[in-house]
Amino acid sequence: MDKEVNYQSERQRMVDEQLLSRDITDKRVLDAMRKVPRHLFVPEEHRHLAYSDCPLPIGQNQTISQPYIVALMTQMLALAGQESVLEIGTGSGYQAAVLSLVAREVHTVERHENLAKQALKSINKLDIKNITVHVGDGTRGWPENAPYDAILTTAAAPKVPQPLLDQLADGGRLVIPVGGRIGQYLESWHREGKDFRHKQTVAVAFVPLLGEYGWKDDTWDWL
Ligand code: SAH
Repeated sequence: MDKEVNYQSERQRMVDEQLLSRDITDKRVLDAMRKVPRHLFVPEEHRHLAYSDCPLPIGQNQTISQPYIVALMTQMLALAGQESVLEIGTGSGYQAAVLSLVAREVHTVERHENLAKQALKSINKLDIKNITVHVGDGTRGWPENAPYDAILTTAAAPKVPQPLLDQLADGGRLVIPVGGRIGQYLESWHREGKDFRHKQTVAVAFVPLLGEYGWKDDTWDWL
């Protein structure tokens, strides 16, 4: 069988067995997960595992999240299609590609220049036009294009970085893993004027968000 066809049927099965069978119900999110070729964001040596129910290494000690977690976080943002979204932690670019299909524009920030370059290559290869990849410390957000209707952080913070709350538009949502080194909870924040409401949801395990308003390189080792 043609390899591409193979990947497509693996992708359909991923959606059926890992997303529909759990609590992913947002049709636009499910459609995006059916479309984005996840295997193109995974290093060659792990490609055969691209549609498995697990995270995978992408180099620089970083990982591409499990498909279910990508879908869940996207669903939690409750996007309708016209939003400007900020992602912190570009990694492979896969989550940004999923977001690009359910929002108007995506700004994504990565601290590792090599990962940002590789992600941009994958995004260009797929001819996706509404993603901008920035290199820098995403714990400061990305003030140039603020405010954002939605912000997604795909690395774990000890607490919510204040700049991210500041850069959230009125009515906007922020989803971020918050906790310690071993595990965190996904938090969902909602801005209403000057008020921020938040709730804790599922337990997760993400790589650290390193930077001015995140973990400091040296503290991470000890906590
Ligand atoms: N969303 C990615 C997975 C991200 S893994 C994907 O779909 O593949 C978390 C990423 O956050 C890593 O690439 C890591 O380098 C990055 N990161 C950690 N701290 C950061 C910071 N302060 N600013 C930007 N990126 C950061």
